[in-house]
Amino acid sequence: MKPSHIEHIGIAVKNLEESIKYYQEVLGLECYNIEEVKDQKVKTAFFKVGEVKIELLESTDPEGPIGKYIEKKGEGIHHIAFAVDNLEDKLKHAEDKGVRSIDTAPRKGAEGLNIAFLHPKSTFGVLTELCENKNK
Ligand code: ZN
Repeated sequence: MKPSHIEHIGIAVKNLEESIKYYQEVLGLECYNIEEVKDQKVKTAFFKVGEVKIELLESTDPEGPIGKYIEKKGEGIHHIAFAVDNLEDKLKHAEDKGVRSIDTAPRKGAEGLNIAFLHPKSTFGVLTELCENKNK
């Protein structure tokens, strides 16, 4: 598999605006993109720390995946995303190794990336996102 780097860390927050303030004013990072992903019922905000991004996720619907996550577990680290090439092959490789995937085929995520999630029950408790940047 060998991802090239951690593409981003996804963090579930209750209030995007409030949490952006923390990242900007305390950590001194710059929010360079805010984007709604209707599919996922989330609003996202992105920061860069070197090559790694922080993706803040606020739910736009209590029944959405982030809404449910926060209700169950509260705010915090939600997933880790690894940058890979040939996502479709990598997804198949994981499935061949017995890893349960949430997405059986790549789909569009924020920032125009192709993404697929692996189930935390198969990844030792870490919701894992694989993503491929085809525009680079
Ligand atoms: Zn993500």
